[in-house]
Amino acid sequence: MTQTPLDQADFLDEARRTHAGAPEFLQALEEITADIWPVLEQTPEYRKARVLERLSDPDRIIRFRVSWMRDDGSVAINRGWRVQHSNLLGPYKGGLRFHADVSESEIRFLALEQTVKNALTPLSLGGAKGGSDFDPSGCSEGEIMRFCQAFMMQLAPFIGPRRDIPAGDINVSSREIGYLFGAYRAQTQTFEGALTGKDTGWGGTCLRAEATGYGLVHFASLMAEEAGRSLDGACVAISGAGNVALHAAERALKYGMSVRALSSSQGALAWKTSASQDDIERIKQARKNRNADLESLASELGASWHGGRKAFDIPADVVLPCATQNELDADDAAQLLDQGCWLIAEGSNMASTADAMVRLRETDSVLYAPSKAANAGGVAVSGFEMAENARFSAHNPDDPDAELKRVMADIHTLCLDHAPSKGDYAAGANIAGFHRVARAMLDQGVA
Ligand code: GLU
Repeated sequence: MTQTPLDQADFLDEARRTHAGAPEFLQALEEITADIWPVLEQTPEYRKARVLERLSDPDRIIRFRVSWMRDDGSVAINRGWRVQHSNLLGPYKGGLRFHADVSESEIRFLALEQTVKNALTPLSLGGAKGGSDFDPSGCSEGEIMRFCQAFMMQLAPFIGPRRDIPAGDINVSSREIGYLFGAYRAQTQTFEGALTGKDTGWGGTCLRAEATGYGLVHFASLMAEEAGRSLDGACVAISGAGNVALHAAERALKYGMSVRALSSSQGALAWKTSASQDDIERIKQARKNRNADLESLASELGASWHGGRKAFDIPADVVLPCATQNELDADDAAQLLDQGCWLIAEGSNMASTADAMVRLRETDSVLYAPSKAANAGGVAVSGFEMAENARFSAHNPDDPDAELKRVMADIHTLCLDHAPSKGDYAAGANIAGFHRVARAMLDQGVA
């Protein structure tokens, strides 16, 4: 092929051959392709420069083995990846995920999504993602530290403040970032902003931990406002009980919402009226002690436990999926619509399956925002942290939450401005992000 074919099916057939064995990556690519195809049809220079083909293949995939020692002296072996997707808009940027199910396909899809997401922020951020199939559950503090050190021993040669700046994601929070940073500092003998999500005492920025969850609720509030509604007084079901879910719950309370549900892979925790700030603090505490078994906390929190159920089974006006990819399927989508849910905004990356997304996008009764727009607050605040580190000074805005809200408002407007039909946030996000990367690609030549 000498240029992008005019027929979308031909392009996708070729992509399926090239990226065989990477189902999540293909799911993300197909979703983006469907939205940007009309743009390609109208922009011959994009087709001629084969912008979409170039954007659908990561710049590079780094894959390494991580060997480390357990407390009992046995040797453990894991796989690690860093997918550097695109640095057209800035240095590679994106989180690290530690989970037993992590695969190369998962990291590749996350890196592609991150590239489009980061392009929606006004900042200079390329896209990347990394992680390992390391399962931290049941590990001691020493084991987690040794795993992080061994992981960084492999990753350090490929990152740096102008090259690639990892951050946290599932099971990687400020504690892991601390161990990773310590290993990077010792190994490279430099103190530099090669990671974000650091503690505020030594190079971190305020609100980074909260930013993804808080930004998500700000985005949902803007969506509601745009549709002439309000989050005040609405009830919300939030899936997950990790960093994004708990901070979304915290911010939802401040918007006057009742938090009806949180969940884990084991089941859903439901409140008749609402979780309180104290309940959220209690769950945060349990997570810190790596003891976040929601079921055992239910009675203490005055909540009921629904084993094997999802947060989406608890009726609510607003639903914020904040657990993991493809957690919301077509049946969940149908049930949410039946239950009268009127707003869904994704906190977890690619929370909805392809079928669920079609269902949610074709109905007018629900406002739907994809993760790449709604959860971009986290990486945007990482961008602030990078800028502060580059200046060797802390910025400390008077009201960091207001600053985050401004960023989310800009992304919201960008999505609406690029949406081919009113309120189509998913297409608006794909088109706006794609244009920004595509223009940079044209300007920078074939390289
Ligand atoms: N892991 C987060 C995300 O999915 C944040 C990435 C970052 O701050 O680099 O956007």
